[in-house]
Amino acid sequence: MDKDCIFCKIANKEIPSSIVYEDDDVIAILDISQATIGHTLVMPKKHYDNFLCVPHELMHKVMDVAQRIGMAEVSVLGAKGVNILINVNEAAGQTIKHFHVHIIPRYIADKGFQITLQDHSKEKDLNLPMLAQTLKKGLK
Ligand code: AMP
Ligand code: ZN
Repeated sequence: MDKDCIFCKIANKEIPSSIVYEDDDVIAILDISQATIGHTLVMPKKHYDNFLCVPHELMHKVMDVAQRIGMAEVSVLGAKGVNILINVNEAAGQTIKHFHVHIIPRYIADKGFQITLQDHSKEKDLNLPMLAQTLKKGLK
C-alpha cells in the first residue's frame, strides 16, 4: 500500500467509491468523471505503478474482470461498443500512478471519448521491417 495513493485508499475503503465488483485481488469502481455513462476503472487492490510492472497472474485476473465489465456494459447498459484504455506514465496521460484499466462504454461514435491515430510513418520515412526487428530484440 502506498500511503499517498488515492486508489490504494479506495481499495482499502479509506475513501468511498462506487464499487461495481471486488474480490481478494481486484476492484472495479465507477470513474468519478464519467466520460460516458458506465465508465469503469478496473485495478489490482495491491499497488503497482503502471501496466508495465504488474505480475502476469495478477494481470490476467484484472483483464478477466475488465472483460466481464465490458460485457455488462453491453448487456445491461445497452452500449454498442467498448473502449479499453490503459495510460502508462505521464507521457501517455496517466494521472494516478496505480495501474488501472478504463472500460468505457460507447453508445454513439465520437460522443464522450475519442482517440484518433494518425499515420506519421510516411513523413518520417520509416523502415517498418527494421523497426519490427529492433522491437523484437527488446522482448523478454
Ligand atoms: P488516468 O488518467 O488513466 O490515470 O485516469 C485516472 C482516472 O481516475 C481519471 O479518469 C479520473 O477521473 C479518475 N479518478 C480520480 N479520482 C477518482 C476517485 N476518487 N474515484 C474514482 N475515479 C477517480
Ligand atoms: Zn496505489
